[in-house]
Amino acid sequence: MIDLEFDRAHLWHPYTSMDNPLPVYPVKKAEGVRLYLENGRELIDGMASWWSMIHGYNHPTLNAAVTDQLDDMAHVMFGGITHGPAVELAKKLVSLTPAPLQKVFLADSGSVAIEVAIKMAMQYWFNTGVTDKTKLLTIRKGYHGDTFAAMSVCDPDSGMHDRFTGLLPQQYFAQAPESKFGEPCQDSDLASVRDLLKAHHNNIAAVILEPIVQGAGRMFFYSADYLAGVKALCNDYNVLLIADEIATGFGRSGKFFACEHAGISPDILCLGKALTGGYMTLSATLCTDKVASGISREQGVFMHGPTFMGNPLACACALASIELLEHSDWQGRIAKIETQLRNELAPCSKAASVIDVRVLGAIGVVEMQDPVDMSSAQAFFVDRGVWIRPFGKLVYIMPPYVIEADDLTRLTSAIVEFTQR
Ligand SMILES: *Cc1c(COP(=O)(O)O)cnc(C)c1O
Repeated sequence: MIDLEFDRAHLWHPYTSMDNPLPVYPVKKAEGVRLYLENGRELIDGMASWWSMIHGYNHPTLNAAVTDQLDDMAHVMFGGITHGPAVELAKKLVSLTPAPLQKVFLADSGSVAIEVAIKMAMQYWFNTGVTDKTKLLTIRKGYHGDTFAAMSVCDPDSGMHDRFTGLLPQQYFAQAPESKFGEPCQDSDLASVRDLLKAHHNNIAAVILEPIVQGAGRMFFYSADYLAGVKALCNDYNVLLIADEIATGFGRSGKFFACEHAGISPDILCLGKALTGGYMTLSATLCTDKVASGISREQGVFMHGPTFMGNPLACACALASIELLEHSDWQGRIAKIETQLRNELAPCSKAASVIDVRVLGAIGVVEMQDPVDMSSAQAFFVDRGVWIRPFGKLVYIMPPYVIEADDLTRLTSAIVEFTQR
């Protein structure tokens, strides 16, 4: 038996209190799209373990990639040493991302990939003799992780880090875009970015944003024209663009990378979450030759080197996951999920408790009028055999891509029922 009492007394869970911990559900095993609780209950997973488990749990190909690599070595330091899994993964990432992105930094988690991206942008300007470009510009309602530099570019008010505001480096915040995906961009959205760049570009190293999908901050899909417009403004004002594709990378929004919706290529790109198919913690920050050679000019070195950099198990797993995705009809699957989400979540918009229903790729979102009580909502969903974890006013799902139609219907019908309580 999993010792829940010990868990409650000693173990932090994400974003929780130790005095008043929220209930946790003991999972014994997971397979395909199902979580198996210790009490024998089966839950269909609507969360894909926070966007990551795209091929489903306990996948034979990924299991084999990890165990085969384990036979050779679980880990070896990356300082002064290299190995096949890291080289092959980097080759794959360079080939899949837009041509200008040529250099790969392998890090441990999404937040660290963001720290690395920010350090790259800063070091690029320092080392090319531009000493005033030390700030970032981002858009409100974003989420980029929980470490200090990442927190400084999360939404300053509704974000999860408002307690730290006074301690964080102060960045520039443009208003959150309101132009919806599939629609043209209203000029007021871009005007906010343009005004800040115009006034402060001499101090701005980079714009950092989540392309198309603002995830944990608001689960909102914005106009591709807006993204293209921001990219053009970055060019006009000589500011780098950092695209945080940690949540959107690897197909989630219907394109392999969300930047493709706008046909743009960033100077620095962050990947994480689904990179290993949800098996292990690994992230990657890619940059252009221009950024890398700026950092490296006159014996410059990039000052970052995590202990577990390029972990071979994680790299082998990531490579296997990407190949699995490439050899699958992921576009067809995601298009089918998208259509089904649109059809089956549509009835939610009739509920008085709902203010918006939106779908993009394999992401379905129902925005409620009022904040949802997470514990009771989770219990409601567990009772219906599904794993859905709302936050704030948002009830949303982003299931594994391998989900079958009838399992997806179980998820959507639970949400419809939830909105009609
Ligand atoms: C999850 C997430 C991060 C942080 O990744 P961690 O692995 O949790 O540190 C950063 N940016 C975006 C867009 C994310 O969704």
